[in-house]
Amino acid sequence: MTENPVTIHTKVCIIGAGPAGISASIALSGLATDHLIVDASTFPRHKPCGDIMPSQVIRELNALDPEIFARLNRENRINPIWHTLTYPPNGKPIHIDYLPFNGQEGVAGCFSVSRHEFDQILIERMLESPHVRFEQGCRITGIEQKPEAILLKTEDNRTIAAEVLIVATGSNNSVLKFLGIGQPKTDCAIGIRGHFRGLGVKPSVTELFLDSELMPGGFYITPLPGGLYNVNLVLSLEKVKKENLNLREVFEDFVQKHPILKTRFEKAERIGNFEGSMLFLGIHKKPISGHRYMVAGDSAGLIEIMSGNGIPQAILSGKMAARQAAEALSTGDFSFSQFALYEEGLFSRIGKNYTAGRFFYPALHKKWISRSILGFLNYLARRPKTNDLLRDLLYEKQPGKLLRKPSFYYKLLLG
Ligand SMILES: Cc1cc2nc3c(=O)[nH]c(=O)nc-3n(C[C@H](O)[C@H](O)[C@H](O)COP(=O)(O)OP(=O)(O)OC[C@H]3O[C@@H](n4cnc5c(N)ncnc54)[C@H](O)[C@@H]3O)c2cc1C
Repeated sequence: MTENPVTIHTKVCIIGAGPAGISASIALSGLATDHLIVDASTFPRHKPCGDIMPSQVIRELNALDPEIFARLNRENRINPIWHTLTYPPNGKPIHIDYLPFNGQEGVAGCFSVSRHEFDQILIERMLESPHVRFEQGCRITGIEQKPEAILLKTEDNRTIAAEVLIVATGSNNSVLKFLGIGQPKTDCAIGIRGHFRGLGVKPSVTELFLDSELMPGGFYITPLPGGLYNVNLVLSLEKVKKENLNLREVFEDFVQKHPILKTRFEKAERIGNFEGSMLFLGIHKKPISGHRYMVAGDSAGLIEIMSGNGIPQAILSGKMAARQAAEALSTGDFSFSQFALYEEGLFSRIGKNYTAGRFFYPALHKKWISRSILGFLNYLARRPKTNDLLRDLLYEKQPGKLLRKPSFYYKLLLG
């Protein structure tokens, strides 16, 4: 990277130092490619999130750099999660038990960690490379696409000239709009997160509460290390706008009306303020690459609708974008088709994960459909075999195959 008083030149610029941007940086360092990563925040920073890291996060982290998960484990920054309880409206929980990670005894297949800690550990690891330059507190406020480079304007009036740009700005639409690929509102959800003490939920259990008032959406409780609880309410943006809802009021109202939550929250203490954020859901496929740029993580609309998870895809897409950037630099080919390879490769890896959500999400906005689904879950919660069958489905290598077997439905519904 070279510099004059107003312009910084770099081979690759990454905007955003969340899991997607940091993974791109770590992968670029692994390929000995000098780069610049900028973020509007100063770190460590809080990021509204459910803080649940499913087994795919462990897999993606280990594929990126095994030292990261080893460090999280060694420094006791994570809390193992062994069970999820889903409460349909009748208040009878459906239990799903997690098997040990890769069959290793005592190693949980899911964990929780606050994003304050998680992103900081990632940043510390990223900064161990001589190939990275990190600018925090640096907001990008404009983009100009030139044939020979991409020019980025910073809030303090500097210019960054990048041969390749990786956009990893999470659910902030502004940079995407400069590139003409803003996220449509119909593909968004919105969430608020509060930290609490004294909820009395077991540390190894996460809880999800469903109700027709919240559909499409849910109320989540995640235990964190040190006796803290992350509590999230996530709702469809379309619903919030249509019904003119205030998320904080919906949160407090739901707790007051729900018999289980009311007791839980009676003695609980909130730590700090509620924080809110959008979620860009993977519903409609949109372009995530173009002349000299690629988009990774949430900005690419990669959050899975059914689980609400986005971190595994953020790590994977950041890594894949970095590889494509290094390829463009080594061949000198910055054409549109070069970066389209990233998009094709990514969707061939994870595109199938979005099929069910694409179908269900619009349907869940119809009250009779969401009520029927909740009624069905009420029924399942009372069935003796539900818990084991759902666990088997979760761990089935080819779930489609199991779902095509009539015997599965017989055991679930009648057996
Ligand atoms: C309420 C809620 C609950 C969730 N729960 C879970 C969960 O339990 N598990 C899970 O896997 N996922 C969850 N997600 C999704 C998860 O948070 C995201 O998938 C993940 O943060 C994506 O990482 P990212 O790097 O793409 O973006 P982010 O982590 O959002 O990082 C983007 C970065 O870009 C920076 N930035 C933005 N604009 C600019 C700009 N103009 N200039 C410079 N910097 C900029 C921001 O400061 C930020 O640091 C949840 C999301 C929400 C909102």
